[in-house]
Amino acid sequence: MAEPVSQPIFFVVDEDPSAVEMLAGDLERRFHADYRVMGETSARAALERLAALRDAGEQVALIICYESMRAMRGSELLARSRAAHPDAKRILLIDHGDARMLEVIARGMALGHVEHYLTKPWRPRQHLLYPVVGEAVVAWTRLNSPGFALIRIVGDRWDPVSFQLRDALERNNVPYAFYDRDSAEGTELLQQLDEVPDNPVVFLADGRVLTSHTEADIAEALGAPVRPKRGAYDLVVVGAGPAGLSAAVYGASEGLSTLLLESTAMGGQAGTSSRIRNFLGFPAGVSGGELAERAFQQAWMFGAEFVFINGATGLSARGDELVVILAEGGRVTARAVVLACGVAYRRLDAPGIAELTGAGVFYGSALSEAPAVKDQDAFIAGAGNSAGQAAIYLARSARSVTLLVRGDSLAKSMSDYLIQEIEATPGVRVRLQTEVAAARGDRRLTELVLRDRRTGSDETVAAAALFVMIGATPHADWLPEDILRDRHGFILTGRDLAGAERPATGQPVPLPLETSMPGVFAVGDVRAGSVKRVASAVGEGSVAIPQVHQHLLRQATRAAS
Ligand SMILES: Cc1cc2nc3c(=O)[nH]c(=O)nc-3n(C[C@H](O)[C@H](O)[C@H](O)COP(=O)(O)OP(=O)(O)OC[C@H]3O[C@@H](n4cnc5c(N)ncnc54)[C@H](O)[C@@H]3O)c2cc1C
Repeated sequence: MAEPVSQPIFFVVDEDPSAVEMLAGDLERRFHADYRVMGETSARAALERLAALRDAGEQVALIICYESMRAMRGSELLARSRAAHPDAKRILLIDHGDARMLEVIARGMALGHVEHYLTKPWRPRQHLLYPVVGEAVVAWTRLNSPGFALIRIVGDRWDPVSFQLRDALERNNVPYAFYDRDSAEGTELLQQLDEVPDNPVVFLADGRVLTSHTEADIAEALGAPVRPKRGAYDLVVVGAGPAGLSAAVYGASEGLSTLLLESTAMGGQAGTSSRIRNFLGFPAGVSGGELAERAFQQAWMFGAEFVFINGATGLSARGDELVVILAEGGRVTARAVVLACGVAYRRLDAPGIAELTGAGVFYGSALSEAPAVKDQDAFIAGAGNSAGQAAIYLARSARSVTLLVRGDSLAKSMSDYLIQEIEATPGVRVRLQTEVAAARGDRRLTELVLRDRRTGSDETVAAAALFVMIGATPHADWLPEDILRDRHGFILTGRDLAGAERPATGQPVPLPLETSMPGVFAVGDVRAGSVKRVASAVGEGSVAIPQVHQHLLRQATRAAS
């Protein structure tokens, strides 16, 4: 496909010419500096023009269709428009007060071809039109606008180190551009160097070039804090997923000096989700990256301090003080610690998988690798909601996406709305009772051996990428033995500790989210018995803070007596 040639397009479709004119006029009034607005008054003409725009290499950012058109329903037109412009945001225009539309919108959202809706009349436009369009445009821009690159990387796309870098930048919302070393841009950038190293080279916007680096070096060069400013805090939160971000917001807003440590990327698992549909207050869903960024801003504005790419590697109690050891060296002390370290992806055990990880085999990351599977065959091992979301996301660019499911049905592990969306998404296949027997390739994945679990027979298929999403284990192996865990490694808290052996006598009865080490709390996915959802992680992060206050009061009372 040709490169986009000019400003992205807003496309409006309604059989009523005056409505098209009025809506296009209102959109132009606000967005004309960055977008062109086009309209059509017939569904057929709209589909033809959308196809022609695609062939001309034009980017369509937004399509707004009126539902009650005679020749074709707006929702159907939106669904069909996906073929030409899979990345466009889609808004359904309905009549104000038409209750029958609820079902149409809900179905469109479940199937992924309606992302927002607007009502007719849409005035006052400041209240009813611009916020909805603005939200859609922000979401589109995050994923599609080439925009400004804070850093440019030149490397080998299939080199695992390049993958780790891209993944870390993507998940930390750092705008970057990646160029293969033999591309025109890559060759031109590398010409600046006297000697070209084998590892990826990082070009910063201010002219600095990093030829040898860790992720922490890059974060530091970009101005991100990788070391704490102080030696002692009221509260140290470990992990910046939804649970940790929430604990930081509530801790800092309630007057605790709060440090949040993150070893990898802000947002945790949620940060890798392209669309979280079930989080309260976001009827059209929200990307995990956006949610994390908003939470980060909120915690930062309340005064929480963040340290990135420098996780906790040790924890111990020294009297009433807790000591946290940091991966990049050094330690901090805290009066209370909230463990919000979440879970790590479970590894697939088959020949070739370990060698090709990052070179075609990826764990849990679909967002950053979508360009790598453009027009190629991608596979996803897994049957949970994250696997389903990734399949739908990758289907926009891959030639085919195959879900490899060990069990005999998706219904046991995946939400019904996602199953429906998968069934309705062209190019997605589901292979039940199938497992990966081997991965093959020289420097990058080219083939998978798939085993039929019923017959035991193997089939070799061409594969450009395998995304492994087969569950997770808790990030808790760095903790001391005094923090008691269940047999799967999840941290025990509160009442669950009652039956467990206590590490020392004379300790107070643990608070509901408190671990076996007084003053250390566990929240979110890492906690035994937690509900593995964004909302519950956020809830537990907030609920932990009153318990931190209770612990501090308990300490103060004991000290005074
Ligand atoms: C692809 C995907 C899609 C999902 N979609 C949905 C959805 O639509 N709706 C929903 O409700 N749930 C969804 N989930 C589940 C949801 O994301 C998790 O339940 C939630 O993120 C758990 O939050 P958490 O903060 O407990 O842990 P996590 O999100 O796992 O975050 C833990 C953080 O701690 C960091 N960390 C770990 N160890 C250390 C250490 N030693 N030092 C410092 N930092 C450390 C990790 O790097 C990570 O950033 C999805 C999950 C995935 C993977």
